Amino acid sequence: MPSPLEEIVRQKIRADGPMLIGAFMALALGHPEHGYYMKGDPFGRAGDFVTAPEVSQLFGEMIGVWAADLWMQMGAPERLAMVECGPGRGTLMADILRASRNVAGFHDALRIHLVEMSPVLRGKQREALAEYEVVWHEDFKGVPGDVPMIVIGNEFLDALPFEQYVGDVQRKVGLDEDAQLVFVPMEGDVYEFAPYRNDFVKCVCSRLKAQGGAALFIDYGHVHSGPGDTFQAIKGHEYVDVLSHIGDADLTSHVNFEALQRGVDIGVAGPVEQGDFLRALGIGLRARMLAEKADVQQVDMIEKGLHRLIDSDQMGSLFKVIGFYYHDKPLAPAGF
Ligand code: SAH
Repeated sequence: MPSPLEEIVRQKIRADGPMLIGAFMALALGHPEHGYYMKGDPFGRAGDFVTAPEVSQLFGEMIGVWAADLWMQMGAPERLAMVECGPGRGTLMADILRASRNVAGFHDALRIHLVEMSPVLRGKQREALAEYEVVWHEDFKGVPGDVPMIVIGNEFLDALPFEQYVGDVQRKVGLDEDAQLVFVPMEGDVYEFAPYRNDFVKCVCSRLKAQGGAALFIDYGHVHSGPGDTFQAIKGHEYVDVLSHIGDADLTSHVNFEALQRGVDIGVAGPVEQGDFLRALGIGLRARMLAEKADVQQVDMIEKGLHRLIDSDQMGSLFKVIGFYYHDKPLAPAGF
């Protein structure tokens, strides 16, 4: 049985002709009723994939330390917008806030803003952050423009729609003679570009330039541009065909970190590998501190989580971290 969204995609293609990959992805993830992120909670062991904040609290704690340090470098401003894009279950923000609770004055200065399109995930975030005041936005453009800010996004950029070229032709999703969904053209070297993603980062950077502050994006991807098809679908922790399970599988593409920086006229830190970034922030020490107060089973979990986050054959190398920053005080974001 095709999913309801597959039928919608078919009808659109019949009416308007083949659909650009960006439009296909936007529908698959964001259709108000049937979109992948709009209808459920995809995270965790029972879900489709596990993200770094769901692997271990150590991840968010390190980002919390990073953010508090940056706020101090900014001269501890009285107001700071703490913005997270695509917060999932709200775990990362909860860990950031818990880890930075004892930094004098930091929480008093913070206003928490979440950019999230999914009503279901907003509900999860509300639960995770019940003890804090939180403002939600559909779009980054809605975040206040008059205070310095720190912007965080983990596995957010990879979820933004992208496009592919085969030669000079933009690749689309069409229908074959049997009305099955296919890519057109089917063959040839694929080049990817991500105008929405790059424009989103440019928008964040122009805000940083006007308001002061920094942004941190963590995602999987490559440091240098090159050919290759990185469009992927994940369902139940397995790779599946990107044109099947529409609305029931997560769709992403690898982030091209070189392209992200193009035309950016503020400070850029990295990209560095996630493992190196977390090690530089002291994740090993923090894990040992946690382990001292833990029982045998917990120590095992802490160790496993640590290695999953930093080891090169796990998330440590594939995931990269990039920072963007601008302020009238000289900033040196930690971890790079
Ligand atoms: N940062 C979280 C979740 C990553 S999944 C974690 O690390 O666990 C991607 C998140 O981005 C989800 O919360 C999804 O609903 C949100 N999202 C995806 N595209 C979006 C868009 N265009 N606008 C706002 N939120 C979006």
